[in-house]
Amino acid sequence: MKKYLDNLIEFLKVENMSGEEKDLVSTIVDKLIQTGLDKKHITIDDANEKIGFGNSGNLIITIPGNIRGYRLLFSAHLDSVKTCKNAIPIIKKDYIESQGNTGLGGDNKAGCAIIFNLLQEIIKNNLPHPPLTFVWMVQEELGVNGSRHINSDCLKDPKMGFNFDGSCDLVTGATGGDEITIKVYGKSSHAGINPEKGINALVTTSTAIANLKQEGWLGLVKKNGVRGSSNLIIANSSKGINVIPDQVTLKGEIRSYSSELRTTIYKKFEQAFLNAIKNEKNTENEIGSLLINSINKYESFILDDSLEVVRLSQKIAHQLSIDDSLVSVNHCVDANWLNEKGIPTITIRNGNEFPHTTKERINIKKFLNSCEFAHRIIATFL
Ligand SMILES: [Zn+2]
Repeated sequence: MKKYLDNLIEFLKVENMSGEEKDLVSTIVDKLIQTGLDKKHITIDDANEKIGFGNSGNLIITIPGNIRGYRLLFSAHLDSVKTCKNAIPIIKKDYIESQGNTGLGGDNKAGCAIIFNLLQEIIKNNLPHPPLTFVWMVQEELGVNGSRHINSDCLKDPKMGFNFDGSCDLVTGATGGDEITIKVYGKSSHAGINPEKGINALVTTSTAIANLKQEGWLGLVKKNGVRGSSNLIIANSSKGINVIPDQVTLKGEIRSYSSELRTTIYKKFEQAFLNAIKNEKNTENEIGSLLINSINKYESFILDDSLEVVRLSQKIAHQLSIDDSLVSVNHCVDANWLNEKGIPTITIRNGNEFPHTTKERINIKKFLNSCEFAHRIIATFL
């Protein structure tokens, strides 16, 4: 057990901002090679090239089984949010915390360590196991980029997946999300000399946003009993306080389990901006224009509770006195894309608490419990 903690602490000392996962990948790979893993089983895919950003792809390790059985997948994400930069882990009683005023990075180095510990034990002690695939994903925190762009061929067709991440005990559903970009164009003019000749893109934007908020399409969205949410931020705007702003760029996201509701919200956004543009004219009767688009970042999923991956996870949870109720979350996890790619994948807690805050900490008992959870998954198939 001490070894499991030592590995975790070692990982917690490695910087791993999204897109800068290379050092953590090297740490994991070096330690596994020292343990005796054959290099031929190691792949680093080209996800970062497909994303167009990042110093590493996903780390994928596939090992053949030494007993018969179908292939199982274990995953966790490598990156942490910026709050965790320069974190120094310290053990305080039953927890690992960060020493200074930073996050810890337990989200998700705890998950990385859980699946690492499992693989290291298997190699070191030549434990019996079916064929296995281990994946450490990049850029989860940027909107599950790594799992979205994973090279599926490298996974070797696993039958089911176990993703270690987050504080919820068993997650069998997660929302879907679209990313939107909105560009509102107006017309610039000197704000003191000819203000009437300008078309203020910020006014158009404000009008549209106020209407969307008033009609219940911005923030929490509840329509006919279906839940969704939407958010907008200003990505940039024209500069110069003496110039009527002729461009505002907004970024935003729309989330819901229902892709139908997401489409409806998107159409409401488009309509609200077009209406606002029509009503914002200058003295020459000119109006502005709009560019709006959306891309699907991740699709929602809900695992049927009769699936083997769910049933056996509940059984193990029960054995380990972990709450075995099935939870659906309103954020994305790498399991969104693994499920989308046809691998039914459950997400299991990593022992971390208060992620994305400076209060972040790892509950040591829960972390070790999840390490045991991972072992029992394999034991179920012997
Ligand atoms: Zn996470």
